Amino acid sequence: MLSCEKLTKFFGPFQAMNDCSISVGANSITGLIGPNGAGKTTLFNLIAGAHRPTSGKIVFLGEDISDLAPNQRFARGLVRTFQIPHEFHHLTVLENLMMVAPHQPGERFLSNWLSPMTTRRAERQTRDKARDVLEFIELTHIASQPAGLISGGQKKLLELGRTMMTDAKLVLLDEPAAGVNRTLLRKIEQKIEYLHDKLGYTFILIEHDMEMIERLCQPVICMAEGKVLIEGDFRTVRSDPQVLEAYLGE
Ligand code: ADP
Repeated sequence: MLSCEKLTKFFGPFQAMNDCSISVGANSITGLIGPNGAGKTTLFNLIAGAHRPTSGKIVFLGEDISDLAPNQRFARGLVRTFQIPHEFHHLTVLENLMMVAPHQPGERFLSNWLSPMTTRRAERQTRDKARDVLEFIELTHIASQPAGLISGGQKKLLELGRTMMTDAKLVLLDEPAAGVNRTLLRKIEQKIEYLHDKLGYTFILIEHDMEMIERLCQPVICMAEGKVLIEGDFRTVRSDPQVLEAYLGE
């Protein structure tokens, strides 16, 4: 589904990505681990289009997307959770979901020519979908709360929900477990599993919570110093001496 081929990235004289190649199969959940500064976020930035590689290329669903803008990648189904705007604090949880729908009737070029009835129907469909998503992420009870007031874990669920409002095929999840309590963590894991098992989503996730990586991810890729150290199943990666050394040097 995705292949990154020999990516390099320089920030001035500093090389953050060093000939990094990964490939991600359709309907996999790939875990991206590595010590701080390994280049995980930089790799996400390159895949999502926030940064351009100094050299190398990125192929998504058979198309070279290296020169596409982030929104063009998004339109092809490559979604980074925070590529969807961070929650609008003053809007409700439900409205936050509705904001993400790819075809907002009010924003459509042709909307001036659409009858109010068509516009209202589209809005109703978006609202219905948002309600279904809310039910799935189990946040219906706080649908009308301002998103700024919900907990960190609920925000992570909302992020996942907003992904579902798009036509996502590959989702880049940035530390879905960070700052989340154990109960919500299990819930987030279950939702990721469901999206993967039942709806065919493909995920790459950066995560420091090794239990989550072990439970969800196959394969696991460990990065260090801007490149891939090793790729394999969790146990193989965890016990690799190079990986242990990379973490020790953190
Ligand atoms: P990780 O996500 O694995 O912790 P990062 O991708 O954030 O690692 O960072 C990799 C290296 O690149 C780090 O040394 C970091 O300081 C550097 N880096 C990342 N972004 C920039 C930037 N915009 N300018 C300069 N250096 C950067």
